[in-house]
Amino acid sequence: MAAPLALVVGSYNHDYAWRVERAPQAGQTLRGDAFRTAPGGKGFNQAVACARQGVPTAFIAAIGADAAGDGARRLAADEGIDAHWQTCTDAATGSACIVVEAHGQNRIIVALGANERLDPAFLREREALFAAAGVLLVQLENGVEATCAALDLAQAHGVLRVLNPAPVHDALDGTLLARCDLVTPNESEFALMLARTGGARIDADTLAGRDDAELHRLARGLGVPSVIVTLGAHGCFVSHEDARRHADARPYYRVAAEHADVVDTTGAGDAFSGALVAALLRGRGRPLRDAVVHANRCAALSTEHRGAAEAMPRAADVERRFG
Ligand code: ADP
Repeated sequence: MAAPLALVVGSYNHDYAWRVERAPQAGQTLRGDAFRTAPGGKGFNQAVACARQGVPTAFIAAIGADAAGDGARRLAADEGIDAHWQTCTDAATGSACIVVEAHGQNRIIVALGANERLDPAFLREREALFAAAGVLLVQLENGVEATCAALDLAQAHGVLRVLNPAPVHDALDGTLLARCDLVTPNESEFALMLARTGGARIDADTLAGRDDAELHRLARGLGVPSVIVTLGAHGCFVSHEDARRHADARPYYRVAAEHADVVDTTGAGDAFSGALVAALLRGRGRPLRDAVVHANRCAALSTEHRGAAEAMPRAADVERRFG
């Protein structure tokens, strides 16, 4: 039997970024410079992060019948990703317009376009991919029906279901979370999830400083068996309902961040989730903690390069830095 796959069902966006002295006022035209265009979308970034760790990775996403969509096909092929594209004729490939002001402030407009049209039927037609998967990874940049359909197909085939709940929006509720085995929110997503699911109202900025027992109690309120909260430069916090299920010795613990010469933290969370899934697939039966340590290393390395998908480290980079 072939080795199981990491399966990512998610978004592809194309980013268009300009640097300007200051953002234009209404009715004003200004000259910008340093125009940059780059692939993105949380699903694609995470698929790249996973594939670069050397595990077989399949990716299902929706794009438009346009030049950005053609680019997506080429980029996925270059990364060795087994991509399955739903091509929409009535929606454009997802895009993000990013204006970076001289003093560092970003203004971003995202048009999810085709990502919102990802069709549950397109996923069901590819059930064989779910049957071949060891881990499924989804985010929240598609329509909620498609995300739920992916999680249900994974459950039907006994596949570990991982949700990176980003960006948190109205569709995130207890019914979606009940379909997940593991979630990987960052601090602000964790705070929003708690608020949305009727749990505590907490200030995201105070999370990293709270004591571990309290973070565990809050995480348990989400009703998901395992929760990993990423804490930026503070690393991450892991909370389990049943630690034995993931071969971990303790129900909750922290993993400190690795040292990084930070250039750009864009996509650090995507690096973390993609690398986590790769490590979970490769290290099945081993403690989850090992996979978390690996994800933390990959995420730290990703901050040392500009961009998102382009900044994802390869297995050899991790080996070189951490042995
Ligand atoms: P997001 O990018 O989704 O906001 P975080 O900011 O929590 O997510 O970062 C995700 C992970 O990236 C962290 O858990 C950590 O492993 C790594 N990371 C982020 N910032 C740093 C940093 N300054 N130094 C080292 N690692 C970092």
